[in-house]
Amino acid sequence: MTVTELVSYEDALATYDPVMGLEVHVELGTKTKMFCGCSTALGAEPNSQTCPTCLGLPGALPVMNAIGVESAIKIGLALHCEIAEWCRFARKNYFYPDMPKNFQTSQYDEPIAFNGYLDVQLEDGEIFRVDIERAHMEEDTGKSTHVGGATGRIHGASHSLLDYNRAGIPLIEIVTKPIVGAGERAPEVAKAYVAELRELIKALGVSEARMEMGQMRCDVNLSLRLNGVEKFGTRSETKNVNSLRSVERAARYEIQRHAAVLGSGGTIIQETRHFHEEDGSTTAGRIKEEAEDYRYFPEPDLVPVAPARDWVEELRAGLPELPRLRRKRLREEWGISEHEMQSVLNAGVIDLITATIEAGADAASARKWWMGELARRANEESIDPTALPITPTQVARVAELVADGGLNDKLARQVIEGVLAGEGDPDTVVDKRGLKIVSDEGALGTAVDEAIAANAAIADKIRGGKVAAAGALVGAVMKATRGQADAARVRELILERLGAAE
Ligand code: ADP
Ligand code: MG
Ligand code: ZN
Repeated sequence: MTVTELVSYEDALATYDPVMGLEVHVELGTKTKMFCGCSTALGAEPNSQTCPTCLGLPGALPVMNAIGVESAIKIGLALHCEIAEWCRFARKNYFYPDMPKNFQTSQYDEPIAFNGYLDVQLEDGEIFRVDIERAHMEEDTGKSTHVGGATGRIHGASHSLLDYNRAGIPLIEIVTKPIVGAGERAPEVAKAYVAELRELIKALGVSEARMEMGQMRCDVNLSLRLNGVEKFGTRSETKNVNSLRSVERAARYEIQRHAAVLGSGGTIIQETRHFHEEDGSTTAGRIKEEAEDYRYFPEPDLVPVAPARDWVEELRAGLPELPRLRRKRLREEWGISEHEMQSVLNAGVIDLITATIEAGADAASARKWWMGELARRANEESIDPTALPITPTQVARVAELVADGGLNDKLARQVIEGVLAGEGDPDTVVDKRGLKIVSDEGALGTAVDEAIAANAAIADKIRGGKVAAAGALVGAVMKATRGQADAARVRELILERLGAAE
């Protein structure tokens, strides 16, 4: 690998203006593949989910997946696109071992959706509009595994294995128009766009859009032009970037690399590049094909797609609230700041908090438990908070017990711990572990009397008017009751007994 000299980010931006283009592939969550009835379930034995159609055997004919088309239209509508009245699939011809038909069934000049936009929110709250060129339907390829080499790449491998289970899984490719005007914030815009798009796809219910599982991947096109120049420079295309952080880093790295090449009198060649997670760098891939190289032509084995207008309108009417607007509404309902909402998002608990509030908790305690105790636990175990063995209903019950005075925070944490440990519902854990606030006045009174008797000197100070000393006695009572007393009531009782007032 050749070490590339980079220009500092600040210096690059002082001379050049970045132009970006983002291509995002989303694997749809349909039960079956795009053109055959094979299952799309993950984790099956290699090549167990294939048939003559997705293996490209001669004579096999494709049949379109209606849910795939419906999902594409939903995505197009949510991105404010126009939906084609009539469009076709096209064959994109090239040979690659993981593509058994020797062409990919895709869409070329007749995409199902085009001319839209997505508003994304940057960290300081500013809204940046990203224009969408098109969203089109296509199919995924199979998966190659290169065996015998040190790196898992094809170089140095002794042989390669092919799994066609993924071949033919529906993909939607969403392509932006060139993104201009972002300046030094281009990498941030790229990350915010992919984040917003992911939220949108999830809200539509068409895919889980989990980047770490390859269900959503992004190609980052980037070029630089001298400040003040209208014409775009030559772009590089960093392929298959698969996390939000990597999208930002890849854009940043390419800005610095292009600036170095251009600044030293070199030229950027239009090529694909690989992104390296370890150090955030990119290295050259293949020289970019021209569209002509693919010999696109309309797919003769599939009927054209002509979605009826009333169906499109029905889908439009059924669209969920856009994530950005939902976040704004929830932020207002919960009474939290932009920054606090960002933390909620980062913790991945927005839906869990919403469900906990729906189950009866107030917003503040729902947020407190999910952002505190539970987010911490999920983080410690490196799992998604949704995978924790506790439900929003159970969290709401804990919040209710606290609100009713049956538990204090310390006891509530123990209840949550019990639920997570599989000891049952909150009420069961409270019973089994004996975790109730001692609010029985008789028992509290006895504990208070004992504490006064055992700390005579302190009691005298309080009698003499030094109310601040009561804390020590409250502490003694809490200790004696193993934290299960209501501290405020204990304090009242102590002051009452000693004839002192606040
Ligand atoms: P290809 O299939 O060759 O990658 P696409 O049109 O699918 O071409 O995608 C190219 C992406 O790059 C689009 O998002 C487009 O807006 C963007 N783009 C085009 N020209 C430039 C450029 N000079 N600099 C940066 N981005 C560009
Ligand atoms: Mg591309
Ligand atoms: Zn099949």
